[in-house]
Amino acid sequence: MAAYLNRATSMVGGDGSQNRLGLFTNGTRTISTVNDSPLQVFVRAKKKINDIFVEIHDYSKDAILFLQEIEDKSIIQDAEVKEVDSFVGKVKAIRDVLCRDHMKVAFFGRTSNGKSTVINAMLHEKILPSGIGHTTNCFLQVEGSDNNEAYLMTENSSDKHNVQSVGQLAHALCDSRLQECELVHIFWPREKCGLLRDDVVFVDSPGVDVTPNLDEWIDNHCLDADVFVLVANAESTLMVTEKNFFHKVSSKLSKPNIFILNNRWDASASEPEFLDQVRSQHATRCADFLVKELKVCTTKEAEERIFFISAKEALLARLREKDQKPASSGALAEGFQTRYFEFQDFEKKFQECISQSAVRTKFDQHSQKGRLIATDIRTVLESVHDRATTLRNGKLQEKEQLHEALNRTEQQLMIITREMKEKIRFMVDDVEQRVSRALNEEIRRLSNLVDDFNLAFHSDPIVINLYKKELHSHVENGLGSNLKARLSTALALNIESVQLDMTDKLTDLLSEEKIATSGNTIATRRQPFQVSYRLNCENLCADFEEDLQFQFSWGLSAMIQRFQGKNYNRFAIKSYGSNQMVPRPMNSPADSMDLTTVSYNGVSNQIGPLSAEQWTVISKIALATFTSQSTMGGLLLAGFMLKTVGWRIIAVTGVLYGGLYAYERLTWTSKAKEKLFKKQYVQHATRKLRLIVDLTSANCSHQVQQELSTTFAQLCHLVDEDSCDMDAKLHELDKSIQVLEKAAASAKKLKNTANYLNNELDIFNEIFLKSAN
Ligand code: GDP
Repeated sequence: MAAYLNRATSMVGGDGSQNRLGLFTNGTRTISTVNDSPLQVFVRAKKKINDIFVEIHDYSKDAILFLQEIEDKSIIQDAEVKEVDSFVGKVKAIRDVLCRDHMKVAFFGRTSNGKSTVINAMLHEKILPSGIGHTTNCFLQVEGSDNNEAYLMTENSSDKHNVQSVGQLAHALCDSRLQECELVHIFWPREKCGLLRDDVVFVDSPGVDVTPNLDEWIDNHCLDADVFVLVANAESTLMVTEKNFFHKVSSKLSKPNIFILNNRWDASASEPEFLDQVRSQHATRCADFLVKELKVCTTKEAEERIFFISAKEALLARLREKDQKPASSGALAEGFQTRYFEFQDFEKKFQECISQSAVRTKFDQHSQKGRLIATDIRTVLESVHDRATTLRNGKLQEKEQLHEALNRTEQQLMIITREMKEKIRFMVDDVEQRVSRALNEEIRRLSNLVDDFNLAFHSDPIVINLYKKELHSHVENGLGSNLKARLSTALALNIESVQLDMTDKLTDLLSEEKIATSGNTIATRRQPFQVSYRLNCENLCADFEEDLQFQFSWGLSAMIQRFQGKNYNRFAIKSYGSNQMVPRPMNSPADSMDLTTVSYNGVSNQIGPLSAEQWTVISKIALATFTSQSTMGGLLLAGFMLKTVGWRIIAVTGVLYGGLYAYERLTWTSKAKEKLFKKQYVQHATRKLRLIVDLTSANCSHQVQQELSTTFAQLCHLVDEDSCDMDAKLHELDKSIQVLEKAAASAKKLKNTANYLNNELDIFNEIFLKSAN
């Protein structure tokens, strides 16, 4: 025992590492307290375990708060939250039990053996009533009161009965008709008794000889007792009733701590010659009872559990000491000092025993429960930590992949954009060339188209205007449909192939979700595109003026016109050549619509050849000049010819000339007029259409360019949207990674707290429990 005390003292003393338990602030005081009373071990153990449980309570509350506040619920399970939540209540219940934990000693024996007297002697005060006869008719539990008041409370009532003295107590107990099994709590000021101050609780019982309900007694009052004291009468021997009771106790409790007090040993003073003999006989019987019958201790241990005392003398001595009188004063039987020393020895052994037993039986359980709770919470937090870490790693990987995909998309988009620009440029050039070639071909075949026009012709100006209008639209439609027939299929195929190519390439950059959601947009892009060939002949040939005046083909003006025609053609070709570089249309479709008109007007203003009217005027002037100024010359020429070829030839030529004129005049019908009209129209339209070949082809290529650019832009927009989605996803991932990292860090911290608590419990076990075992 001394070794145990020394060990306990060294553990809880001035050493800094032990002070972190928070129990002991003053090493010197601790040592002296430990030396004063073994009960202090229990007191300190209780405080320490209480402190640890306060921490476990806080820990369980922190853990549940943490679990409830976790943002990402996928890393916790409802069952785990419930489990940890239940721990808060459990720890609270243990703390409540801990507060009530005390060292309990129960006194049993036959009536009037002196149980109450022993308790009074131990408490240094006459608290319990004692006397000859059946003085204790129920269970009395004496414990310290926190408010320094003396009162008693019965089991089924919370009423406090004031008691200031033993007389009052006895009176109060008599007044209340109590069953023998009932328990009355007697609260006595702690300050008055050292044992009460140190949390020892005394239970006095009615005599075991007065009741058959021993089982009930044990169940109700003995199961949590740390030490049992059998108060026997040394004037007789151990009785069967006493033995029976303890047989029952040891059958219900494993190795109960039992002390046997052979009381009334003062009686032996009257027969000193038999003293040793009787003592030896009692001691042997008591030891046999403990060792052989009950088997609760060894023979050596039994020697430490059997005492021969006089409680009456011890109580008297204590009361004298209290009055500051010598303990041995007054009339005392022979051998008082020896008996008093033995009583004190009993007290010392009892204190060591009850302290160790209570620490072991009560706090060992709490310590184990605390460890289990801390470990279980730790397991939950470990799972949360592991899940958070695994999820975080997964998300980090996802983030990295997303990052790579985003970069790859960006690079691919740049490459595809460059490639598609090239393709579109090539496509535009190709379309321009094709349209230009086809239109030139159609212009060359314009006369066929005009010949196919079958509307009735009349030279009346109103009819001619209508005829012109219809002819314009016939030519416009004919040219349009011919161009379409020549180009549409090839162009559509080429455009579609480029569109498909860009769709496929850009679709490859899209995520599956995006493809699923943008299916319509992508499909729309695959619809065939038609180039519109708008020539607007009405505007183009608005300035066409037919000349249906009869004209003798061998007349002077016709001759001049023929000459003019040659020059005109040469001039027109020259002009046409100089106007090859027709500017490209602007990007706006509205601009492209009006281009024919604008350019036509522009061109008509630029072209320099003289009109037919101008040439007629010139020829008339030339003729007049010739007539007026050269009359004389003409007469001379006629005379010269008459003389050279003869009049007959002149006459025949004149007749032929006249006949030719008459023939032409007679065949100048409506049909001839229509033919001339169409011929003039073809010439005019050919000239005008040639001027807009470049413009038209540029317009068509522009349409294609617009179509392909729009397709590409729309697909790029989808890729952009997808990239934005990926960006948003990256942001989301960043956020959830942060949440998970925070959760993992908190779980780790709380996990470590469990380690700290387990460590605290380890230290507690090392200091208090190992030494108590
Ligand atoms: P209980 O019924 O077992 O509680 O016994 P009590 O404590 O009431 O004591 C019964 C009587 O025995 C009282 O009158 C006591 O004074 C007396 N008594 C108790 N202990 C001793 C003792 O050691 N020696 C003597 N001579 N009388 C005692």
